[in-house]
Amino acid sequence: MAQLDRSVYSGLFIGGEWRAPKNSTTTTVINPATGASVAEAPFGCDADADAAIGVAREAFDRGPWPRMSGPERARHLRRLLSVLRDWADDIGDLAVAEVGMPVSIARATQVEVPLQQLEYFIGLAEAFDPLTPLPTTLFPNRSGGRILGAGVVQRQPRGVVGAITPFNAPFFLNVMKVAPALAAGCTVVLKPSEFTPLEALVLAAAAQAAELPPGILNVVPGGRDVGERLTTDPRVDMVTFTGSDAVGSVVMAQAAGTVKHVLLELGGKSAMIVRADADLEAVARRGAVELTLFSGQGCGLWTRHLIHRSLHDEYVERLCAAIAGIPIGDPSDPATIVGPLIRPAQVERAERYVAQAVREGATIAAGGRRPDGFDRGFWYAPTVLTEVRNEMDVAQDEIFGPVGVVIPFDTDDDAIRIANDSRYGLSGSVWSADPAEAFRIARELRTGNVSINGGTGGMNPAAPFGGYKRSGLGRELGAEALFEYCETKTIQFHAG
Ligand code: NAD
Repeated sequence: MAQLDRSVYSGLFIGGEWRAPKNSTTTTVINPATGASVAEAPFGCDADADAAIGVAREAFDRGPWPRMSGPERARHLRRLLSVLRDWADDIGDLAVAEVGMPVSIARATQVEVPLQQLEYFIGLAEAFDPLTPLPTTLFPNRSGGRILGAGVVQRQPRGVVGAITPFNAPFFLNVMKVAPALAAGCTVVLKPSEFTPLEALVLAAAAQAAELPPGILNVVPGGRDVGERLTTDPRVDMVTFTGSDAVGSVVMAQAAGTVKHVLLELGGKSAMIVRADADLEAVARRGAVELTLFSGQGCGLWTRHLIHRSLHDEYVERLCAAIAGIPIGDPSDPATIVGPLIRPAQVERAERYVAQAVREGATIAAGGRRPDGFDRGFWYAPTVLTEVRNEMDVAQDEIFGPVGVVIPFDTDDDAIRIANDSRYGLSGSVWSADPAEAFRIARELRTGNVSINGGTGGMNPAAPFGGYKRSGLGRELGAEALFEYCETKTIQFHAG
């Protein structure tokens, strides 16, 4: 079993080796549950990003990785998977320490699921046939005669990929980008969030322990200057970004100058539509999960609960009761389900939105404040607001905290209209005893993912995941994700 060498946290991973940041800077990783320091992590700068891009470019232009067959790449990635499986407990512990993710869910959601994703892309690489034949066809030529045409469509790795990720599910989201990019034959420079560098460095350490070819995966924790370099440098062919829609649109503008391919996974404000014939107890239990999972710091969570008017009051009662039964506290305690928010600014943001909603007429049915008894760390109680109109900021903006709104509706078409009255379109759900009507509603929703009566959402590696509207461009997971990291080339033969 490969051992995790924790001293790697002192370096950037460039060209298969650990390097000190050029400006010798570190950043303090903070445990959000306590505010205490977890570790000093290396903090790269523009010059480090420049060096990493150079190495990734060289590895793509002259190295073996893009020239290997899919099955050959899959063999290397299987070694990576095996190392990561050995380190699963360490990785889960990092999610607890860096993100404040409760240990009760960290191992399953932040380690097992991403490793399933890696395994899925290894499977796609193993089966990957880069050539698809074009049908042989007779075409009229300019002089009225005929040409026998044939050819192939070839998928080739897109090139050097700049991958930029947020804080909320670091290992999960890093793997979601690195796995398909490497499986396709690209080389990668990964920049994690300033708050969560360690789960990216652990991936680098695993790449080293698995003896992946040097230069195909480079990891440069850092700030905005590193992100800007990855999105503007002409040697980078593609940017894959997960984060807020505000930064996503800046990233798109930065990438426009060099016309890079851009994949954007951005924010959401997803609707949960509950018809009059839904199983209310099941819905209330799931509604409580959607407002508390990751302390509300999840892009695809259903934070607008659209409830048929006949069920509204009973739903609010059951939802609040379910939330009251969910333990909030020390993320390292296996009994805990809800942990802290990442930084004080997130707590203040939740407070600001709730206060404004109340000024505009909303009622607090649960939470609405910092929980009692938490002197250290960054906490906000799971919060339910009623008497909310969909046009209010609390119903339109992504808060990224444990705050949800309940809005009544009268007809299915009302529910669809309210759900679609959003600048986002990432996720959503429909709950009903009538699967055909639920399916009709699901098809009407302008959103990339819809679950009917519960479902696996972003946890299923074969299900393409991504957004409509300001929730993003392109898809991660599923077979489509591999093609995001491929160029398509048509080669045609003159057959006769
Ligand atoms: P953020 O947008 O603040 O930061 C994301 C990353 O962008 C960080 O690594 C940051 O350093 C980097 N960055 C900042 N400015 C940049 C610039 N000018 N150029 C390049 N990079 C730059 O996001 P966050 O607060 O870390 O994460 C929360 C957001 O992520 C939420 O909006 C959430 O919905 C979104 N998210 C989306 C998905 C999805 O799959 N759709 C998944 C998880 C999180």
